[in-house]
Amino acid sequence: MMTKNEIQKRIKEFPLLKTIMAAEEVFWRNPKYHTFAQAIRTIPLREGDVKEAEERLHRFAPYIAKVFPETRPAHGIIESPLVRIPNMKQRLEKMFQTNIEGELLLKCDSHLPISGSIKARGGIYEVLKHAEDLALANGMIAIGEDYAVMASEEFRQFFSRYSLVVGSTGNLGLSIGIIGAQLGFRVTVHMSADAKQWKKDLLRSKGVTVMEHLTDYNQVVEEARRQSAEDPTSYFIDDENSIHLFLGYAVAALRLKKQLDDMHITVDGDHPLFVYLPCGVGGGPGGVTFGLKLVYGDHVHCFFAEPTHSPCMLLGLMTGQHDRVSVQEFGLDNKTEADGLAVGRPSRLVGNMLENVISGVYTVDDSTLYRLLAAMVDTENIRLEPSALAGVAGPVRLFRDLAGQTYVEANGLKENMKNATHIGWATGGSMVPKDVMEAYYREGVRIETMTENGFSEGR
Ligand SMILES: *Cc1c(COP(=O)(O)O)cnc(C)c1O
Repeated sequence: MMTKNEIQKRIKEFPLLKTIMAAEEVFWRNPKYHTFAQAIRTIPLREGDVKEAEERLHRFAPYIAKVFPETRPAHGIIESPLVRIPNMKQRLEKMFQTNIEGELLLKCDSHLPISGSIKARGGIYEVLKHAEDLALANGMIAIGEDYAVMASEEFRQFFSRYSLVVGSTGNLGLSIGIIGAQLGFRVTVHMSADAKQWKKDLLRSKGVTVMEHLTDYNQVVEEARRQSAEDPTSYFIDDENSIHLFLGYAVAALRLKKQLDDMHITVDGDHPLFVYLPCGVGGGPGGVTFGLKLVYGDHVHCFFAEPTHSPCMLLGLMTGQHDRVSVQEFGLDNKTEADGLAVGRPSRLVGNMLENVISGVYTVDDSTLYRLLAAMVDTENIRLEPSALAGVAGPVRLFRDLAGQTYVEANGLKENMKNATHIGWATGGSMVPKDVMEAYYREGVRIETMTENGFSEGR
């Protein structure tokens, strides 16, 4: 814990801390943001690493298509739609009385097959990589063979000799649990206090062992790590530090480029791309950002979005202390309805690698997430979980917040904003049970009505 004195010193150095500690919405422009050519010099990964991950997913496509029929139309490739949301853009402009220049799109990872969240990228990828490593090492398979054989009883028996362990706020556990159990692994998911009941129920129905904890995400990961280390047949999926998760997420960028090309959307020096990514521990948004920078370099601008009560990446980047600081040390409670983002301490890996790559971080109040959730249903008929709406707030914040406009001007983008493309990364939602979603929606409508009548949500 920091002493009062130390906190006062930090506030002097970073005046924005005062607003962050009051759990109010902020927009932070990263002063260490560099050209990507310069930033990548200190990053140990290259395009070849992302391509390798993409090829591995291709090798597994026949298996995925076989065991998850919903992926058959895309031949076993787990990918989500990219859609234009002009009605939502209009609604945003009205709700927040601001003009959004350029076009607004939604990347619907909420509708990724198998587990309905961005974790279906990194989480599933890492389990597949581990399965492949085991199968290769034990002579069960050779590269070039049809991986559909992994659906056989022989392989399920083989994988049942090994276990997977993960700590999660919910969605990572869902992804690891579903793919792990399908392959035949023994899977244990340690869930933090904020994990939703339906996620635990769903996993148990698949034969996954769910351990419920009363503590928050980072403590749960610690406990899961410790328990996994006691068992030599166990593999720990390390959400805080895994390069494999990171690369699984990064593949999204190669796919997104193809989608943008197919939609005839240009990204270049005259047509900037802005991407707004909800951030928990940072692996998902970090991996996607790294991939996008490899593809588009300085023409893409990636902003991370966090709840006002859990701005761990913001604190880590701003102070340069990364995983050495937590939101609790700054008096925040890490309590948010955006369960996928309820993380108090950021990934060390991501903070260190991307400290010159992330354009900035903004925070969003839970009440705003709910208002956006209802608006997305009303205008586009798209249902997202609260976490996923953090990205959708991005364009409003870029144009409304002073630091957002300073970013635009400092990077010489002002003239080209009319040609801009904004993508809100919708990170989860399609697996949410109907009654839970209905309750989310009603809460959003309730808050919106109060806001329109001039009440604010005194949180
Ligand atoms: C996990 C998650 C994120 C963020 O990913 P991190 O890797 O934790 O930063 C965002 N949205 C949802 C819905 C998630 O489940």
